[in-house]
Amino acid sequence: MARINDNYEKLPGSYLFSEIAKRVATYKEKNPSADIIRLGIGDVTRPLPPAVIAAIHKAADEMADEKTFRGYGPEQGYEFLTREIIARNYAPKGIDIAEDEIFVSDGSKSDTGNIQEIFSPTCKVAVTDPVYPVYLDTNVMAGRTGDLQEDGRFAGVTYLPCTAENNFSPDLPTERVDMIYLCCPNNPTGTALSRADLAKWVNYARRNDAVILFDAAYAAYITESDVPSSVYEIDGAKEVAIEFRSFSKTAGFTGTRCGYTVVPKNLFGKDKDGAKVSFNKLWNRRHTTKFNGTAYIVQRGAAAVYSTEGQKQVKETIAYYMENARIIRENLAKNGFAVYGGVNAPYIWLKTPENISSWEFFDLLLHKCNIVGTPGAGFGPCGEGYFRLTAFGSRENTIRAMERDWSKIS
Ligand code: PLP
Repeated sequence: MARINDNYEKLPGSYLFSEIAKRVATYKEKNPSADIIRLGIGDVTRPLPPAVIAAIHKAADEMADEKTFRGYGPEQGYEFLTREIIARNYAPKGIDIAEDEIFVSDGSKSDTGNIQEIFSPTCKVAVTDPVYPVYLDTNVMAGRTGDLQEDGRFAGVTYLPCTAENNFSPDLPTERVDMIYLCCPNNPTGTALSRADLAKWVNYARRNDAVILFDAAYAAYITESDVPSSVYEIDGAKEVAIEFRSFSKTAGFTGTRCGYTVVPKNLFGKDKDGAKVSFNKLWNRRHTTKFNGTAYIVQRGAAAVYSTEGQKQVKETIAYYMENARIIRENLAKNGFAVYGGVNAPYIWLKTPENISSWEFFDLLLHKCNIVGTPGAGFGPCGEGYFRLTAFGSRENTIRAMERDWSKIS
């Protein structure tokens, strides 16, 4: 028999969402008339903007005509999209990104998961705790960690606690690390790093020859001027950071699939002989070897996000979700909860009352209010004692959920 990749056996089962589903199903079986409202989902619910739909229809028609039909496109993405990305997301901020520094993909899950392949298996990894699980799990699979320990942490990984005590802004590690995953605005905490917070990390990376892997999947939700929407807004970041962006939460592409990664050409690592090698060159090699491009039709849809109509429609949808976030945040605060996030991200992170565990809180909320959320412990040990609610539901359900009697559990 062929030998498996033993690293996969280090991973616990993907317990979080299956356990939630199991507990909800059990409750529903015993209480069939319960009107359960789900505020746990991390997926959008509003449809694609009409400008995107029109562009997708037009592109589909082009595919039906041999004169305009497209086969394989450039693996890195069509110029009509990369040009828009630069013109709309970077140039206005004075950030100089070249077209060959952008790699269009099928979304940020793939990119944040695959990026570790261009780093040595010996690289030291730092992740925030709690964390979007993809960063950690893909490094476990690649053998960059030891085993899962009793404290819920993998040996050999540097965890950066993000709690109310440090205002969800992680402290710099005391040891040297090579790869630092930062997600801003953050899933699951819904909080964001200020310009000064992020500058601290860019300076650390510059001093330590480390690389920041900056996931900005929720950049479109930023409302505060002190929160950078790109890591490259920080001086010197182009020599130390890779940035991931996604159309998923920006424009409702979770089921349509499009994102992109920026790998600057003057971001270097070193090879076994100590020679400087450009990460851009390596990612280009990886991308062109393992990926055959995002669908033309989808890229046309993504480019339409930047049209005047597209921008207006996307902003309306984001405002809709952020109004839900405000409703949740203010109602929970009124009910005496300590609430975080929800200002620059569609997630609200609440502290469980009297330090009850996040799973106990899950059960209480389900049983007493018939509301489903996500226990913070599912995102890492420092998520224990916290709970995530999302603003991606309908306005009606958000209001109905807030009208329930939260005093039963506060
Ligand atoms: N990064 C973060 C922090 C996310 O929360 C998500 C999705 O929930 C993703 C990336 C995945 O985005 P995509 O749909 O582009 O794969």
